[in-house]
Amino acid sequence: MVPWDPLTEEQREVRELVRTLARERIAPRAAEIDESHEFPWDVVELYREHELFGLFFDEEWGGTGTGTLLSLVAIEEISKVCATSGLILAVQELGSLGLKLAGSQDQKERYLPRLASGEWLCAYALTEAGSGSDSAAMRTTARRDDGEYVLDGGKRFITNAAVANLYTVFAKTDPGAGHSGISAFVVEADSPGFEVARLEPKMGIGGSTTGELVFDGCRVPEGNRLGAEGEGFKIAMRILDRSRPGVAAQGLGIAQGATDYALEYAKSRETMGKPIVQHQLVAAKLADMETKCEAARGLLYRFGQMVDAGAPDEELTKASAMAKLCCTDAAMEVTTEAVQVLGGYGYIREYPVERMMRDAKITQIYEGTNEIQRLVIAREMVKESRAFLLAGVG
Ligand SMILES: Cc1cc2nc3c(=O)[nH]c(=O)nc-3n(C[C@H](O)[C@H](O)[C@H](O)COP(=O)(O)OP(=O)(O)OC[C@H]3O[C@@H](n4cnc5c(N)ncnc54)[C@H](O)[C@@H]3O)c2cc1C
Repeated sequence: MVPWDPLTEEQREVRELVRTLARERIAPRAAEIDESHEFPWDVVELYREHELFGLFFDEEWGGTGTGTLLSLVAIEEISKVCATSGLILAVQELGSLGLKLAGSQDQKERYLPRLASGEWLCAYALTEAGSGSDSAAMRTTARRDDGEYVLDGGKRFITNAAVANLYTVFAKTDPGAGHSGISAFVVEADSPGFEVARLEPKMGIGGSTTGELVFDGCRVPEGNRLGAEGEGFKIAMRILDRSRPGVAAQGLGIAQGATDYALEYAKSRETMGKPIVQHQLVAAKLADMETKCEAARGLLYRFGQMVDAGAPDEELTKASAMAKLCCTDAAMEVTTEAVQVLGGYGYIREYPVERMMRDAKITQIYEGTNEIQRLVIAREMVKESRAFLLAGVG
């Protein structure tokens, strides 16, 4: 390990492999994936071949057991060239965390090996048409009936809709009980009464499916409930604490990819007799872009190191929210500047920074908007300051 690189020799080898796949196999497909709006099954196949889904799972389940930091690095490397492809990895983590954190041994044995190999894709279904940031206001219900749960309602904006084989779904088992009336389930895509109603056209991440799920008397075995009845909201939040850095890694990748592209462009584009990189206003932009990426990377990698060192859940909330906020705000700022560095060429489809700017926007919105991240960080700050004051007077 070199002092400034937190990755071990072995982890750096994996990063190199992912970088090569990104550059040679995914980058040439990125524009087409964006424009065709088709889910890139060839990228999924590439991940399966090279066991990249395994980066998110312990060896016990067929994964590599190489930890969180490396899995974030993989999402970052892929997202440098294609945000849709980076998201496929991030959502395999998002959709399987419920099983990892709250699944029984039987549930884990049933599903995790298939998710670790990538044979199955998964999804996380919390948001509804009327409840996004205020997720506890969800209206989907689950009632017990003869050894099964019957789910009724719908979910909106669900990534991997129609391509996932397994959905982690949150529903109210006790609608009058607020947060503690919510339970979590895993629902297989072929469950009776489950349907993907439609896919949304959208601004960016063109190859990723975002869809509406309908549960119409959807029957799920009792054995598919994750944790106890009423624990669903806590599970949903614990999942997000660990998955948001995946979005952060996606944002950081997009930002670094845009910075690298803008730099190369600025070295070769000449105005007023010299490459634009030698004009101080352009050089300053590039310096700010690189600095924002590097600062964001510090927060993101710190989160990965915390998880790998076994930090308790309560210490992850603020670190996760800060990484998500910083990396994804950087993504939007940096990609906007990248378009500016390319001038008119930045605005047209032939050059990738236009796509990167559109892709960056969603990272500030999903898995908790950045306004919500700020609320979370401030709430954790208040908790910490109270502990400090009490310690002081005690
Ligand atoms: C492409 C895409 C993919 C997605 N994938 C998934 C997925 O896989 N699974 C899933 O469950 N969801 C998914 N989502 C949903 C996403 O997480 C929500 O859209 C997001 O959390 C915001 O919820 P909302 O759209 O209802 O906005 P709202 O909650 O209505 O918020 C609207 C605005 O008000 C602000 N706001 C709301 N409440 C507050 C507050 N208390 N204080 C300050 N500001 C506030 C928000 O920040 C936002 O700017 C996806 C969305 C998109 C667009």
